[in-house]
Amino acid sequence: MNLKPDIRKFSSEEMIAEFEKLSEPKFRAKQVHEWLWKKSARNFEEMTNLSKDLRTKLSEQFSFYSVTENIVQKSSDGTVKLGMKLHDDRLVEGVMIPDDERNTACVSSQVGCTLSCTFCATGFLKRERNLEAGEIYDQVVLLNKHAIEHSGKQLTNIVYMGMGEPLLNYDNVMQSIRYITSPDGLNMAQKRITVSTSGIVRGIKRLADEGMKFNLALSLHAPTNEKRNKIMDINQSNPLEEVMDALNYFYEKTGNKITFEYILFDKFNDSIEDADRLYYLTDQVPSFVNIIEFNNVTGVDLRKAKRENRDTFVEYLRNKEVNVAIRRSRGKDIDAACGQLANKND
Ligand code: SAH
Ligand code: SF4
Repeated sequence: MNLKPDIRKFSSEEMIAEFEKLSEPKFRAKQVHEWLWKKSARNFEEMTNLSKDLRTKLSEQFSFYSVTENIVQKSSDGTVKLGMKLHDDRLVEGVMIPDDERNTACVSSQVGCTLSCTFCATGFLKRERNLEAGEIYDQVVLLNKHAIEHSGKQLTNIVYMGMGEPLLNYDNVMQSIRYITSPDGLNMAQKRITVSTSGIVRGIKRLADEGMKFNLALSLHAPTNEKRNKIMDINQSNPLEEVMDALNYFYEKTGNKITFEYILFDKFNDSIEDADRLYYLTDQVPSFVNIIEFNNVTGVDLRKAKRENRDTFVEYLRNKEVNVAIRRSRGKDIDAACGQLANKND
């Protein structure tokens, strides 16, 4: 077993203390910290302003668990899905979605997911472990390379909408956001980041208290407890009233509107009554609604709503002045669309 501590687990202060133990000066620790988070080094060898001896010493003392690219799939619409390997040979997926003026990275927060929403391919996998902050950060770095390759431009947005429930890996997700947004890290704007949750009340409240400016999306998918319980087990312990309170608290603290994600399922949540119920929820907190097309997942008997029902549903909401968008599905031909991430190619 490898017992060398992970170099990327140390804060900058802890790094200085570690370096002191090795009789290395403070500025060396700072240089290494900069290599890790600002220059996105993937191993000690890349740290070229350190002596060869020091690089060897560091690799003897510490592990460096960088994520590597395993499989690259490109969709006809330009979407790139990356299968990535972790140091323990586990696999996760991330997606780069190019658009006219944006390049969005969709990153995973866990290997698999503990929750088993009935419509989601990731939910069928067992949760194997949480990702480390460095492993989430690496996905951004690797996807950024593809963004540049594709369009000559960097990533503009990051969504925590890959595999896993970010708020059940709270500390590492927050730490990754700090490395991605800090001037000592990748220096991306907080407002370009969206964390999506199935509705973990405690986690939403904690996020609100972080004093940061990123966005929050709720995977709502059904407008009443009764219906939501049927497709999202998490709703049993985190009922809608409590989730709505937490969302309001998030809005009060951050001033950021909430995004409600709503997959339209045929004859399950696509009636006018459902639309009205959704309107009632959106009226309780400043928000947007994203209507998501259901992507087929093998073994799931829910179906996507009929086009005319979708249009009537959306029209109803628009008439009530709800801010609603229909989200186009991307990367379907390579199973890179929402809910389709399930490590099929291992
Ligand atoms: N666990 C978090 C983050 C994953 S985000 C969450 O659930 O919010 C993945 C998004 O894709 C969520 O909005 C999820 O509800 C949605 N999704 C899952 N399965 C889907 C499917 N088959 N078709 C379309 N969207 C799906
Ligand atoms: Fe997990 Fe989100 Fe999929 Fe539900 S929708 S199983 S919470 S990844």
